Amino acid sequence: MNESFRAIPSVDAVLKSPAGQAAIDRFGRTEATARIRLVLDAERQSAREGRALRDAQAIAALALWQLEAASGSSLRPVFNLTGTVLHTNLGRALLAEAAIEAATEAMRDATALEFDLATGKRGERDDHLRDLVCELTGAEDATLVNNNAAAVLIVLNTLAGNGGGAVVSRGELIEIGGAFRMPDIMARAGARLVEVGTTNRTHEKDYRAALDTGDIALILKVHTSNYRIEGFTKEVDAPSLAALARAAKVPLVNDLGSGTLVDLARWGLRREPTVREAVAEGADIVTFSGDKLLGGPQAGFIVGRRHLIAAINRNPMKRALRVDKLRLAALEATLKLYRDPDRLAERLPTLRLLARSQAEIAGMATAILPDVRAAVGPFYTVEIVDCGSQIGSGALPLDTLASSALAIRAVDGSGSALDRLAAALRALPVPVIGRIADGALLLDLRCLEDAPRFIANLRGLADGLA
Ligand SMILES: *Cc1c(COP(=O)(O)O)cnc(C)c1O
Repeated sequence: MNESFRAIPSVDAVLKSPAGQAAIDRFGRTEATARIRLVLDAERQSAREGRALRDAQAIAALALWQLEAASGSSLRPVFNLTGTVLHTNLGRALLAEAAIEAATEAMRDATALEFDLATGKRGERDDHLRDLVCELTGAEDATLVNNNAAAVLIVLNTLAGNGGGAVVSRGELIEIGGAFRMPDIMARAGARLVEVGTTNRTHEKDYRAALDTGDIALILKVHTSNYRIEGFTKEVDAPSLAALARAAKVPLVNDLGSGTLVDLARWGLRREPTVREAVAEGADIVTFSGDKLLGGPQAGFIVGRRHLIAAINRNPMKRALRVDKLRLAALEATLKLYRDPDRLAERLPTLRLLARSQAEIAGMATAILPDVRAAVGPFYTVEIVDCGSQIGSGALPLDTLASSALAIRAVDGSGSALDRLAAALRALPVPVIGRIADGALLLDLRCLEDAPRFIANLRGLADGLA
């Protein structure tokens, strides 16, 4: 026993081994030493129990491995193989390279964020994007806030915050998820909800009756992005609402939700109303998200009439909801890509992934199938199946995009074996997130672009399953 205790190396000896030096390089002497001491404690326990002991290099390597495992960010990159392209829980849109570069530069250097380089005087942070947003949407003016929920909040608070009536169809009183419910937001904004019509049918005369009561501050139209009512339905279109609003001398606010800037039909997707159309249809204010179909960072756009945007910018809430320089830089770079629609699908990851053909995805499935089979081992089967991807974030909820998935099943057919596999995939250096459906773990390959990186990452899977 004394013999084996003497075989345990000293802290100094471990620190001097190549792995010990690497641990110091990466984590500093203090952290490396503390971790090595913990590993040495475990070694002494092993010695007491008569188990085999590690040499200095192996102890240092274990300490380094433990330090690395503990140092990973919890906000880690993952492989999103859920089949939902704009997955809110996985961070929605992936940014274009140009946006990443712009944000990185804005982080590294001082930027002329609120500084007018022409005059040397103070500038406005919204100035950087105003012209570009107006050019892409046809709006008179534009401002930006933290996200679209914030956009709706500040618009309602500015235009109806003193208990002003906000007229909304009962068919549009939606919940977006994450506790964002239109009636609650209205109450928090200080607006008085004036519901009109019924869940399935709302007529022009319903709006007119509400407007005739006077005491109405605005009409709100909400794009029912995440659900659709079918059958015996009626809604009043935006141009008719705009005419009603004009006659009553109140603004029409249109919350578009996703709000795309281009006609997606060009890439084989279903048409969503574009922001330009909403503006042209006579909405006085249009709000939409930056990180849904637009494919940029999280942000809320508010575009529309100059005097209304000016009033929104004077609202003290604006200061609390404003966008930081990183996102402004990323947004500007993202929006500039829209000036060249021909190359948009190539440069904007969101559109590139949405527009990917099933044939291409199936080709990738065939290419990686042997490696995935080898990685999951003999207790699982893997086959290629057709599946439907979703756009996500409430956009076009009923539309699925034809895609290809690897369907993995446990040979013993058990759910626990499938759960174990899903957990092992999540525990990989780059966690792999799929979805379980019909007794199989589906890995939808629509969002997989770097197959070699995916395969290399699977190397640790056998250990995870052991
Ligand atoms: C998504 C959505 C919102 C919220 O937008 P965020 O950018 O997620 O805050 C509001 N309204 C509608 C109609 C939406 O679809």
